[in-house]
Amino acid sequence: MRYSEMFLPTVREVPSDAETVSHKLMIRAGMIRKLTSGIYSYLPLGYRVIRKVENIIREEMHNAGAQEVFLPMVQPAELWQESGRWVHYGKELLRFTDRHDREYCLGPTHEEVITDLVRHEVKSYRQLPVTLYQIQTKFRDEIRPRFGVMRCREFGMKDAYSFDATEEGAEINYEKMYAAYNRIFMRLGLKYRAVEADSGSIGGSYSHEFMVIASSGEDALVFCSACDYAANLEKAGAATGAPKPEKTEPVKILPRTEVHTPDIKTIEDVCAFLNVLPVQVVKTVIFNADGSPVVALVRGDEEINPIKLKNYLGCEVLELAKDDMIREVTGAPRGFAGAIGIKARMIEDYSLANMSNFVMGANREDYHLLNVNRGRDFEVSECADLRFVREGDTCIHCGSALKFARGIEVGHVFKLGTKYSQAMKAVYLDANGREQVMIMGCYGIGIGRTVAASIEQNHDDNGIIWPLPIAPYQVAIVPVNSDDARMAQAAEGLYQALSSRGFEVIMDDRNERAGVKFKDADLIGIPYRITIGPKNLAEGKVEIRERGSGAMNVLPLEQVVNFITGAVRKENE
Ligand code: ATP
Ligand code: MG
Repeated sequence: MRYSEMFLPTVREVPSDAETVSHKLMIRAGMIRKLTSGIYSYLPLGYRVIRKVENIIREEMHNAGAQEVFLPMVQPAELWQESGRWVHYGKELLRFTDRHDREYCLGPTHEEVITDLVRHEVKSYRQLPVTLYQIQTKFRDEIRPRFGVMRCREFGMKDAYSFDATEEGAEINYEKMYAAYNRIFMRLGLKYRAVEADSGSIGGSYSHEFMVIASSGEDALVFCSACDYAANLEKAGAATGAPKPEKTEPVKILPRTEVHTPDIKTIEDVCAFLNVLPVQVVKTVIFNADGSPVVALVRGDEEINPIKLKNYLGCEVLELAKDDMIREVTGAPRGFAGAIGIKARMIEDYSLANMSNFVMGANREDYHLLNVNRGRDFEVSECADLRFVREGDTCIHCGSALKFARGIEVGHVFKLGTKYSQAMKAVYLDANGREQVMIMGCYGIGIGRTVAASIEQNHDDNGIIWPLPIAPYQVAIVPVNSDDARMAQAAEGLYQALSSRGFEVIMDDRNERAGVKFKDADLIGIPYRITIGPKNLAEGKVEIRERGSGAMNVLPLEQVVNFITGAVRKENE
């Protein structure tokens, strides 16, 4: 395409709400423009990148046996009432009413619609398995849209759904999608990790998030420095790490004493007042699990991860207990809870393993206990991994040190089981004519977020550095002076030669200074820039510069097509 004819408004200034590199560069490179909060238009350059990403996803979905559909964005409330999500989804679900007072929502995801479609069409085990996907606009009324298209309200998503007759089948489909996702993110040239994510009540490791590693990422992830293990830290029901092994010298059990600790309630206050370290204190945290009190014990320097506890208990709702519940089980106000004599189910975290003679609340207002010991003073029958993992903990799979990183969640694969098919009665007849519930999986990729994540990983001070597979154009031809007839002619010749061979080329025919043209080519991140300047051209040569490495080659005009062909082929291998 000739630059002079392109709708490509590059700008120097960025709006003040652009915090991340990708947001700034997508605006500056003329890829996107904001319409209103969290709602963006893609301009031609941006949309070309979106299309490339979508096409790679399409190819891999096809290879994985998924068939493309296109489902409505407007969804009737009745389906969401059937699944129970009309009540549970919260304010991200944008609801509205039509002229007949019927209620609808804009789809933030499509489990209900796809389940409705499949339950009407699939009746027999012979029609299963089936995997369907679409690439379509979602709407989520995010409370704080930010980072441009990374966390916006209207966004494109590839969402796939699998339906299986058997557990084994569902697992095979999950593995297939997991493998397809690896191929997709590899082809997109991203540095990423597949991390175990919280799969809530479904359990096991049947949910993985695909995280692009980036310091600007909103998610914290933990990964092993040696093996493949990686997990989402915040949602990490799965993130497990044993505390560092400690010396277990035999210790003398000391007599327990009660000390007056007036108004001393937090771990910090207790440590300061009693002159002890947090590792010598046991924290007693009381939770309300579906209405019943549950007590979790953890070493004073550790924190309970409520998601781990929730998954361990298998409860629906878990929250910190309110004052009245605390008083009910401890007989004391908040701040003085301890294990001795407490009236509730109790679970200890592994961090208590080597502790003895520790400090603990006395279940009595303004009192703590010194030299408390398990066995002698109280018993706990349940022991589990409940705390937040820490950097340097040992990996449960291989024993190496765990590390932390920040990541951007670009994709998510999830084994749903029968959550929706049960609620919405998606059933089939098995070989014996018995009715069975279908087993589902769902698999999403955020298209715009993936593009933004790619920019987070591929840029420098001058702009974007597109990986070839998703570059909006592969080559930019820059005659340093478009008024010069010989330069213009050489540029035109190359433009025709490359375009006719299927390469995507921008020909910068603008009447701009060379510096302006170079800056724009760098900003929009075109992988190969061919510069046509007077000195080289006098010898029948041009310069080819690689955007990423900065590598330069001066070549005779007639070798340019071969060079680009070879470079693109190499990149695609
Ligand atoms: P997050 O935790 O970031 O809010 P999510 O877990 O709610 O995302 P999913 O329901 O798993 O997201 O959706 C699948 C994919 O859709 C995500 O992996 C992400 O790439 C993309 N996505 C989700 N929310 C947004 C958003 N607000 N803006 C852009 N992309 C999004
Ligand atoms: Mg997710």
